Amino acid sequence: MSRPQSRPEREAAFMKEAKRMYEQLEDWYDQHPQASFGEIEAEARKRRRELMGKALEQVVNGRDAGVQVKAPSCSHCGAVMVFAGYRKWGIHGLEGDSELERAYYVCPNCKGETFFPPGSETEVTGGSLE
Ligand SMILES: [Zn+2]
Repeated sequence: MSRPQSRPEREAAFMKEAKRMYEQLEDWYDQHPQASFGEIEAEARKRRRELMGKALEQVVNGRDAGVQVKAPSCSHCGAVMVFAGYRKWGIHGLEGDSELERAYYVCPNCKGETFFPPGSETEVTGGSLE
């Protein structure tokens, strides 16, 4: 996935997930033509959580994953830190489970010195982690 994405790109990614969820529900109903409304609803509910998790993932990760135009400086030695990729972590939310991503930087001089740019949604406050 290229980040960050424009709003139309984020929307397209979500619509793709929504379409996939709807198709799965259609397939399930084809296989269970005698299902009651309650059973159909139970199936939809299972998929809703997955879809909402994806929606939140998309809106957060696609908008800002913490990549900075100017790389941060190491708080120990002052060297310009190097972008080292994205860390992922799972969030078990009220509406769904999401896998959030956050850019992280490492210091070329100090071993283990990492920096995660702050982001309110991920409750990352910035600073260094071991
Ligand atoms: Zn350093």
